[in-house]
Amino acid sequence: MTRALPAAAPGQADLLQQALVHFDQSEPLSARELATTVAEGDDDALRAQALALLVRCHLVLDEHVEVLALARDALDLCWRIGDRASEAIVHATVARSLLFTCDPVSAMEEIMTAIEVAEASGDLTARMLSTGTAGTIYYYLEQYHHCIEFCERAAEMARILGDEITNGAMIDTMACANMCLAEEARAEGDEDRAQAISGIAQDQSREAITIARRRGHRRHEVIALGNLAESLSFSGRTDEALELLSGWQLDPARESQSIITHLLDTHGSVCLASGRYDEAIGHLRAAMAAAESKNSKMVSAEHLADAYERNGDLRGALDTYKLFHALSKEVASEAAKRSGSIAVVRMETAQAKAAAEEERARVTALQHANQELLRQSLEDPLTGLANRRHLDEVMAAGLAGHAIILVDVDHFKRVNDEYSHLVGDRVLRLLAGLLRSACRAEDTVVRFGGEEFAVLLSGSDLANAMATAERLRSEVAAHFWGEVVPDLTVTVSIGLALGDESIDPAVVLGHADERLYAAKRAGRNRVHGPTETP
Ligand code: GH3
Ligand code: MG
Ligand code: MG
Repeated sequence: MTRALPAAAPGQADLLQQALVHFDQSEPLSARELATTVAEGDDDALRAQALALLVRCHLVLDEHVEVLALARDALDLCWRIGDRASEAIVHATVARSLLFTCDPVSAMEEIMTAIEVAEASGDLTARMLSTGTAGTIYYYLEQYHHCIEFCERAAEMARILGDEITNGAMIDTMACANMCLAEEARAEGDEDRAQAISGIAQDQSREAITIARRRGHRRHEVIALGNLAESLSFSGRTDEALELLSGWQLDPARESQSIITHLLDTHGSVCLASGRYDEAIGHLRAAMAAAESKNSKMVSAEHLADAYERNGDLRGALDTYKLFHALSKEVASEAAKRSGSIAVVRMETAQAKAAAEEERARVTALQHANQELLRQSLEDPLTGLANRRHLDEVMAAGLAGHAIILVDVDHFKRVNDEYSHLVGDRVLRLLAGLLRSACRAEDTVVRFGGEEFAVLLSGSDLANAMATAERLRSEVAAHFWGEVVPDLTVTVSIGLALGDESIDPAVVLGHADERLYAAKRAGRNRVHGPTETP
């Protein structure tokens, strides 16, 4: 295989597609491996998308410092190639990361950027991810109505995209927000409303479970199941809740530790709420033992301490509270350290963005300068007409169907000698203007050199071309040159050739030149074309 480079591009696109599928199936490690290969490739458009996916992989793997560090590279590339969709996805992922590192206010700032960029990109996936993340952030900011509004919108976009997993996740988040609203209603003494909202939450959890099952998404299924159990328990349907939880077959070979911990903790909390303290203590102790992260251990410790206390085991309650307290201190100090390093990366990201903008401005300025140089190289500075180089470019395309007219000022040396070069220059400028305005826009008028001009007429036959040449000659002769210096007269001699006289443009030009000199010899102030005798 020698065609390595061209063949590589579709392969990279396939890899990226596979990486996205793995990511959607909650296999971030495989997704990361595939996306890394694409990110190291040489197709910038695919690299930007791969980097955006890698940032998302780091997020679900809880690697928050890496999220920000890689986000900077990803954004850099997105800005450079103008990939607004990937840019929005990266911002949304950073927002989620900031949320999980306990910085919901910065997360909100970041997600507003994401939404703005996503809207500008018009990309539905980018819009869905940023809108959904905004919904989640509102949940943590305890703004449940906003949360539901944004999640509903994101769910609708997910349905349009056929993205069932995101649809399910959004419905589950709405269920959680509704449960919080139900608790608020209960706290306000409005039990009817509390029950009604809890009913909505249960329906939503059931829908989320169905979707997760259909898609084989175990983690989402367990989370939605736990939420359903909690809302059933809230509505006083404890038996149903417990039945649901016991019905779940925990398979340690398939289930991740975090899923096991989550279920045990939910089970314990439901038992606790229904007064089954011994059972609650059993589940919560198991949850603490299974917990891998300090965070989930801390959550279960708090529940367990509560269970001991209500069960009258004050010694157990005190010991567990102490443990909870120690864990929460550790979690807080780790969060502080993490947010310190995140702050550094955020600052560097802002600097990188400023540098990228500066670079872009520099490139734009350079492009303008180049265009200006190009324009200048094809223009005559004295008259503003196009120059010989421009005529050569036009003629290179062939002269078929064209006529070329060479115009030379008669006795121009005398103008210079009698009145000065400055007057000569003014005459040339005026003459250029006369020729330009006497021709059609599609004709090319150039300063051929010195006091010589060329006009390239398009689509002219001999009679038309001769008539145009004659009109140019007589307009110059009739012009009131006294406006330059009193008593000045200016005439021109003209040689004309037709493009069809030769396939070689240089030969055609040569004919025009010969005829110009024939016109000079014949007494000047006249036009010589193909039919005049030399
Ligand atoms: P003929 O009728 O035979 O064409 O006579 P001529 O005097 O016009 O021809 P010649 O070629 O001897 O002189 C051309 C003059 O044009 C010489 C040169 O100084 C002058 N010239 C060329 N370019 C410029 C310019 O940019 N400005 C001015 N003022 N004069 C120029
Ligand atoms: Mg001349
Ligand atoms: Mg001359």
